[in-house]
Amino acid sequence: MSTPAAKPDPRPDLRDLTPQQVQDLVVSLGEKPFRARQVLRWLYKGAAGDFEAMSDLAKGLRQRLHEVSRLTWLTPQAVGESGDGTRKLLYALDDGARIESVLIPEEDHHTLCVSSQVGCAQGCKFCKTATLGFRRNLRPAEIVGQVLTARTMVDEARPLTNLVFMGMGEPLDNLDNLLIALGHILGEHGLQMSQRKVTISTVGLADKLAALGRGTPAALAVSLNVPNDALRSRIMPVNRRFSLSTLKASLLAYPLKPTRRVTLEYVLLGGVNDRPEHARELIAWTRGLKCKVNLIPFNPHDGAAFTAPREEDVLAFQEILIAGNLTALLRRSRGREIGAACGQLAARAMAAEEEEGE
Ligand code: SF4
Repeated sequence: MSTPAAKPDPRPDLRDLTPQQVQDLVVSLGEKPFRARQVLRWLYKGAAGDFEAMSDLAKGLRQRLHEVSRLTWLTPQAVGESGDGTRKLLYALDDGARIESVLIPEEDHHTLCVSSQVGCAQGCKFCKTATLGFRRNLRPAEIVGQVLTARTMVDEARPLTNLVFMGMGEPLDNLDNLLIALGHILGEHGLQMSQRKVTISTVGLADKLAALGRGTPAALAVSLNVPNDALRSRIMPVNRRFSLSTLKASLLAYPLKPTRRVTLEYVLLGGVNDRPEHARELIAWTRGLKCKVNLIPFNPHDGAAFTAPREEDVLAFQEILIAGNLTALLRRSRGREIGAACGQLAARAMAAEEEEGE
């Protein structure tokens, strides 16, 4: 006999709520609004795993909060570590769904590659996550929860300062929850991370870029990978809905601050999109766009339909872009032997790094 599935908990998770909603809930319990500020401090800077941890709240209030709301705390079920110190954190969520984050050490800080969905509906042909299909969107608490847990796993010498939304899922397919989570990550009430060091990566959902730009000042990366429609539509089905010209028009309209640029990620697939003509097409496509390019040699995963590019082709591709006046940086895979999720996830995760230097 199979075990009946656990009933979903009807109580709202406090980290799924906006600060105003937390305040409304606290006031509905007969408390003054300043108590909500105390609760918010515990939720984010205090990283409370349960209501008991909120030690400067009266016991009665903690009890009532527990009755009407809940808190999710993500504990990794498994941690895989590669030789370069990259850690892959596997979480089992309360409905049994699994997600991953990847924690990447740099010289003086850590970068976390964050997931936004369980699986993904976009079906990019080079991506391992795509083979899972789409299961569900992550709640804001499950998104910010990955950050809170990762912060407990690094030391002061190398704090967690950089986030890249390049884990499982297409963040813009979960835009409402993403924006609430980003509010907790960047906001005054929350973790107050730097907007320049938090990067949202999308395959190019052109119809949602305007709402993203209105909703958050975080940095933007686009997983471009192919500079012509015929080939991009074969490798990235999203291109059948939003062609390269539609995508470019929405990027030109994106509300970028004067000193910022869009990062274009370009995964080099051996013999597929790594030819000199592709580099020249890329230069032509980027004309007029404030952008920089991250080149990422493909790192084949089990069952991958593509191979790694040859080193000489990678270098030649980069040279053509630079000669065409594009900023083109070469990114190498991190966490290779722990199969860090989305095919190129750990390497793509480094895409945000140079945002800092601008
Ligand atoms: S590359 Fe990103 S958007 Fe494309 S299938 Fe993989 S997770 Fe989804």
